[in-house]
Amino acid sequence: MGLQRVQVVVDLPLFGAFTYLSHFPVSPGQRVAVPFGNRQLCGVVVTGIPPEGLPDSQLKQVEQVFDSLPPLSADFLALAEFAAAYYHFPLGQTLFTALPTALREARDITPPDERPYGLTDAGLAAMPAARQRARLALWQALGDGPLTQTQARQLTPQAGKILADWLAEGLVHRVEPDLQPLQLGPSPQLNADQQAALDALSSGPAGFQPWLLHGITGSGKTEVYLQRIARCLAQRQQVLVLVPEINLTPQLIERFIQRFPASRIAVQHSQLAEGERLRNWLDAWQGRADIIIGTRLSVFTPMPRLGMIVVDEEHDGSFKQQDGLRYHARDLAIWRAHRAGIPIVLGSATPSLETVANVEAGRYRQLKLSQRAHGAAKLPQVRLVDTRRAKLVEGLSEPVIKALAARLERQEMSLVFINRRGYAPVLACTDCGWTSGCPRCSTRLVLHLLERKLRCHHCGWEENVPHACPECGAPDIKPLGEGTQRLESALGRLFPTARILRIDRDTTQRKQAWDDIYRKVHAGEVDMLVGTQMLAKGHDFGTLSLVTVLNADGGLYSADYRASERLFAQLTQVAGRAGRADAPGEVLVQTQWPEHPLYQALVAHDFDGFAASLLQERRQAAFPPAVYQALLRADAAELASASAFLTQVRQQVQPLAAEVLISGPAPALMVRLANRERAQLVLESANRQALHRFLDQLPPLLDAQARQYGRGLRWSLDVDPQEM
Ligand code: ADP
Ligand code: ZN
Ligand code: ZN
Repeated sequence: MGLQRVQVVVDLPLFGAFTYLSHFPVSPGQRVAVPFGNRQLCGVVVTGIPPEGLPDSQLKQVEQVFDSLPPLSADFLALAEFAAAYYHFPLGQTLFTALPTALREARDITPPDERPYGLTDAGLAAMPAARQRARLALWQALGDGPLTQTQARQLTPQAGKILADWLAEGLVHRVEPDLQPLQLGPSPQLNADQQAALDALSSGPAGFQPWLLHGITGSGKTEVYLQRIARCLAQRQQVLVLVPEINLTPQLIERFIQRFPASRIAVQHSQLAEGERLRNWLDAWQGRADIIIGTRLSVFTPMPRLGMIVVDEEHDGSFKQQDGLRYHARDLAIWRAHRAGIPIVLGSATPSLETVANVEAGRYRQLKLSQRAHGAAKLPQVRLVDTRRAKLVEGLSEPVIKALAARLERQEMSLVFINRRGYAPVLACTDCGWTSGCPRCSTRLVLHLLERKLRCHHCGWEENVPHACPECGAPDIKPLGEGTQRLESALGRLFPTARILRIDRDTTQRKQAWDDIYRKVHAGEVDMLVGTQMLAKGHDFGTLSLVTVLNADGGLYSADYRASERLFAQLTQVAGRAGRADAPGEVLVQTQWPEHPLYQALVAHDFDGFAASLLQERRQAAFPPAVYQALLRADAAELASASAFLTQVRQQVQPLAAEVLISGPAPALMVRLANRERAQLVLESANRQALHRFLDQLPPLLDAQARQYGRGLRWSLDVDPQEM
């Protein structure tokens, strides 16, 4: 066989593919071992025509082809190619991000053969002698029915060897698994809203169709997914269900298992043991798994019979990866559904403004669930406590203290939500409500206490901290959202007998953490759940009758224009924890801005009105989704050199920026992170194509420019950034 030229990508921060010679026939998607520098690396053969002109003598050769598995599918490669192009990230690194770790290494992977062993007629007649105890036990067990290798090993550790012998002797054979008929566990009768949604989802046109399932908390969205998924499974289609990190609780998976007891449900998330992740991934790829439930990375899982995608809590920030390949799993899922020509359902009580805008533009179709599914359950009553008038004890108002005390007395559980926005304090006047805005753009200035400066993270504007309110002259101006720490400890002092359980990033790190939390909560061992953003997800904490919200005002006037969208979603979610069962819930929000539209909308349970006014604001200020953004970030040991790099880049690329507005450099909202200092340029355009044409040209320029700064400088592009 002659030499073939192939294009190979590797897991290195290098754009483009490399040309190798191959003695072996290979096709795109094949994993190979290639020499690279003085190492051997795992590579993936990609499509693309090798460049002309290079003589064979200058090319290195593919050393090995890992062909125990078939080449990665064309769909998988296409998704990776799209992600690499859209996020302006090297294709090699993109592909390797999408693969399970075991497949990123330069070694062959032989998939375990899961087909069970069964006795042949010859085997049935060949009963082992009684002294061959292991063989006899295995033979007897096989007489009752086929066994997988794993099951056989549980009988005797020698099972592998014995079965291999018997296979060679024709005493056993591999049994092809029967197609299991679909089994359905018990399901409730849908209410009218749910039934209408299910009917719409089921009768929609064949082919690509994005749906927004917009249902208030506890309205039975999951039930609608389950019943729609049942129809896919009945047609032997696979289904991909994307969930936010934290929702991936045993609760949800248990619900799927109970509903689909005979279906193979495979879970994909980053905390899974490597072997299990690989096995589930292969099961999905080879069509054995019917349902994949996973966090953002599972959007890449290859599924040959994919019939539908569900993105639960589609507004959740965890769908966006914040380092490396900065992809948004919901957006890639939309692309994937489009390519596969299948429906995709985005579910949320508080959809993202991007999705709301897509519904408005007629690209997505909306289905609404406006009642709670569970019997008499009602939405909780939301009340605002004006902290300008209330007397505060250690930051807590009397109504809040009374309400907490009453629940403690009645042995009901309360939830205390403390909004923690420590990073980017904005100055506000407690008298007239003035906040520190940027005179050049529509963002808020961030207080940098050490230097006593106010800075705009968007355009780089900087000014001194005023001594009094520029509007009304009152001296009482201070950063919003102060005093979070104090509130936490105050609860302990005010309610010394209360059993307080804290839920935050620290207390939920351990693998079993959520199991423990659920066990305690459902065993009635908790009086007050105290926590931050973590609580604002779709958890079911059973009978909560009170939710109190402290220090949420920071999200009203923030330097991050997405803050109010997020705050509303979070408060709706935490409020939704109250009154899920039969007791009506109560929500108390402490604020110094009770007349703010966000709180008014919260009281009225009016997502649509609030979203419409936010969209209006974003359009006026020319922020996403009205425009498309990318961030060019740079970090270095010192802010000055990151900024200098970006200033030079800006001068250099300005002539290329047709229809693209470049702002900055400005320090990042969190300037210092892990001993590095960060600055950024904001790149934006009302024309997505124009922005991407511009971004296409940047990487080589940036690499060249960065070399002048040596190893200490790093840059990255973030397309559709979620964090500033
Ligand atoms: P969501 O996903 O919107 O939060 P779920 O599907 O989890 O809502 O439903 C909330 C609760 O109501 C769950 O306990 C669920 O079992 C129950 N539920 C859902 N649909 C119905 C129904 N049609 N009848 C009775 N209970 C229901
Ligand atoms: Zn004032
Ligand atoms: Zn500005």
